[in-house]
This record gives sequence, structure tokens and C-alpha cells, in this order.
Amino acid sequence: MQEFNMFINGEAVQSGSTFEVVNPATGKPFAQVQQGNVSHVDQAVAAAKAAFPSWSKVSDDKRASLCHALANSLEDNMPELMELITKETGKPMGGLNGVGSGMEVGGSMGWTRFTADLQLPVDVIQDNEEARIEVHRKPLGVVASITPWNWPLMIAIWHVIPALRSGNTVVMKPSPFTPTATIRFVEFASKILPAGVINLVTGEGEVGEALTSHPDVSKIVFTGSTPTGKRIMQSASASLKRLTLELGGNDAGIVLPDVDVKEVAPKIFGACFHNNGQTCAALKRLYVHESQYDEMCETLAHLANGVVVGDGLEEGTELGPIQNEDQLKIVSEMAESVEREGGRFICGGKRIDRDGFFFEPTVVADLSDGSRLVDEEPFGPILPVIKYSDIDEVVARANQNDRGLGGSVWSSDTEKAARLAQQLECGSAWVNDHGAIQPDAPFGGVKQSGLGVEFGLYGLEEYTSIQTLKIAR
Ligand code: NAD
Repeated sequence: MQEFNMFINGEAVQSGSTFEVVNPATGKPFAQVQQGNVSHVDQAVAAAKAAFPSWSKVSDDKRASLCHALANSLEDNMPELMELITKETGKPMGGLNGVGSGMEVGGSMGWTRFTADLQLPVDVIQDNEEARIEVHRKPLGVVASITPWNWPLMIAIWHVIPALRSGNTVVMKPSPFTPTATIRFVEFASKILPAGVINLVTGEGEVGEALTSHPDVSKIVFTGSTPTGKRIMQSASASLKRLTLELGGNDAGIVLPDVDVKEVAPKIFGACFHNNGQTCAALKRLYVHESQYDEMCETLAHLANGVVVGDGLEEGTELGPIQNEDQLKIVSEMAESVEREGGRFICGGKRIDRDGFFFEPTVVADLSDGSRLVDEEPFGPILPVIKYSDIDEVVARANQNDRGLGGSVWSSDTEKAARLAQQLECGSAWVNDHGAIQPDAPFGGVKQSGLGVEFGLYGLEEYTSIQTLKIAR
């Protein structure tokens, strides 16, 4: 069994008690991790607070070059990190359309390098005989990062690199389901960065709450479920912490009747099913015009039946298991609700009879808005395909959901599709694509999908406060 520590003030820390991390492809533990508690949160925040004054004064060039060194550490250890991610999340090394742990580590490197090269400009608002007014960006202090289990390393990188790049120090708390690759990264980072600049504690809700209510934490960046996001907002209120909340989504995709179904279906299938649907901005509700409804359902089912499901460590696997047993239970309950609510399985619909937490890639027809599988985020390999007849009406139906992370319109008329996409109430709108993200384009949710954005200069600015400097003349 592999063993993993916490990291505080540049040192490996052991608490004396441990918890196990289960490989969802086997249902058996493969790693043992030190269990943190509230006193570790206090030590980690104290170390980050003590490191902040000197780290925030390190020159911009030096901080950029240290971020590049972090990217190099990811690259140098890529095979080990990929294997850990596959063992802890179940996602294949390669995966459907190349979406697997190789992409997770490669993306982590790419985001780190891009963010390392960003620069926060000083804005000059006025410069005349009366005064010069400059707007400066200053780091906030200690940033707490709390991450989920679906893309554990990449999301940690999205939080931590812009925080460090802009001069903050960090305390991380990974999901107890998937802490191992993140801990290895912090181990590498502890050798590259000054002591206390990056710290990691483990634990569940109690540790998370201690971190998010700690008076010396200035900002929380959280990716996870909407209910947890709301609890974090409450704990953060006592000391008015800054927040970036990237929460759950229930993204709609609308297919206009002018598409070639056979051409768009594989792309739509990948947008729905990559990582088993366990991606915040996966396509989770597909609205298809009545004239093409049956053809789309059959084509998606054909693709689902052809997917290679198995242990992600085996070459050629496209989809692995669901990450944990609780999530498998949620997906199974949603599947049980389908026929009760008038839906019909075109393919799949049940747990796969083998060790681990596997579920058949499932396509469901004949459900509509108001049913559980359509209204709630399933976060698993199960897609409702919903029939519509009127284009204006379908946009309103897509917008009825309380989530607003992403949305897409699929059409051969991209101008018309772009006009409709702009009517969707969501933070990212795609035409003939879904879930595509990149390090220079801001990403974030509206409504109950969150607050603030990540990536690019917009994302970097969220780790800073503005200081307006007026020099009177
Ligand atoms: P979760 O909310 O259960 O847990 C996320 C993290 O919060 C974990 O580290 C957990 O230990 C911690 N936590 C739990 N209770 C806490 C508390 N009271 N205070 C502080 N921290 C606490 O989410 P999950 O099940 O790990 O992830 C799945 C959810 O994340 C889905 O809803 C998905 O849509 C969402 N997600 C969103 C994005 C995005 O960018 N918007 C990305 C990935 C996942």
C-alpha cells in the first residue's frame, strides 16, 4: 500500500491516524493517507501567514520562473502522476477521445505554464497636470483551496498556480476520495518553493469548515457541489473572505434541426460521456428536435454500446468506473426513477456486474423537464435526450434549470446558433462544441453554478485586491 503525508511549512507531517483511498476499478484500497484535524489547519494557516510577507515581495520574474519549475516537476513525474490519478479516480490513462489522466497531467502542465507567463498590468486612469491615478493589483494573503474528486490534480492546479503567481500563499485540502496525486505535487512543490508558501492538510467536512472559517484566511477558492458551496459561503461570511465558487452544473445542449446527426453525434457523445459524465461542464441534458429525435437517440445508443468500459490502467479502456460508491448509488437511483417517470432506456440502465463501481453507458428517451434525471445533475454515464418542437420554447426550457455553468447549440448555421447560445443563462456558451476550456478563456458559472471565474487574466485578478494610487500634482 502506498503511503502519503500532509505537508506543512515545507515538511512532511504525520498525524498518527490514517485513512484509505480506494481504487474504484477494484473497490479495494491502494493508498494510506495521514488524516488531518483542526490543529493541522491551524498550523498550516499559521505557516502560510508567516510566509506571505516575503513571498508577496518576491520579484514578479522570480515568481514566474518558480511557477515554470512547478510545471517542470509535473512533466518530470508525469507517468507516476497519471497512474495515481487513474487509480484514485478510475479515469483511464488514455480515455474516450483522449480525455483521461494523460490529459489531466498534460493540462495541469499547460495551465501552469500559461499562468506563469501572465502579468498583471498597472492601469493608468489619469495622468495630467492635476494628478496621476494608477490602479495596482495586490495579493490577498492566505488562500484556501478546496477541491473535488473528478479532476483532482488539474483543479488543484487551477486554484493554486494563479494564487501563487499573484503573490499569495496557499493551504490546500483535497477530496478524501482522491488526494494522492495532489499530495505528490505538493511534495515536489515543497522542494521548489520557500517553506510555508504551499501547504496541504487532509480531512473531510470538519477540516474543510475549520479552514473556511479561519480568521487568517483571506480567500477561498472552492470547486465542488452547490450545497457545499453554500455552506462555505456561510463560514466565509464571518471575516468577509473573498470567494471563487465553481459549483455543480446541469448543462443543456440544443440540437437544431439542420444538423447532420451522424456527423455531430460522436462529438455530442464525447461531450456527455467523457470521464463517465463526471465533469462539471459535461453536457447533461440534450434537447433534440422532433424531426431528428429517433435518429439521434439510436445513433447515441450505438456509440454507447461500442464504448470500451474497464479498468483505466488497461490499454484501450475508454470509460472507467464511477469514482465512488455513493456516486454510483446516486446514478443508480436516478436510473430507477426513469421508467417511473415515463422514460425509456435506449441502452444501458444498470450497474455492471463486476468488482468496482461500474455503470453501463446509458441513453434515456421520452423524459421531459420536471423529471429527476433532467432537473438534477446526475454526474454519471447517463444522458436524457429530450424532444422539442419549437426553437424559441426550447431555449426557455433549457434556462428553467437553477444551474448555469455551460450550454451549447448545435447547427450548420453558426450565426443563428451563436444568437441562440447568447440567450442561454450560463457562464460558457458553445456553438458546435461543449465543455471545451482553455487557459486563456475565462470559465465560471452563473445562477447556482457559482461565483467568479477562473483562467487567464480575468481569473488571475480574482486572487488580488485593487489599490488605487492617486499622486496629486
Ligand atoms: P463536494 O462538495 O462533496 O466536495 C468538494 C470538497 O469539499 C471536498 O474536498 C470535500 O471534502 C469538501 N467539503 C465537504 N464539506 C465541506 C465543508 N462543510 N466545508 C469545506 N469543505 C467541505 O463535491 P464532490 O462530490 O467532491 O464533487 C462533485 C461536484 O463538484 C459536482 O456537483 C460537480 O458538478 C462539481 N464540480 C464543479 C466544477 C466547476 O468548475 N464548476 C468542477 C468540478 C466539479
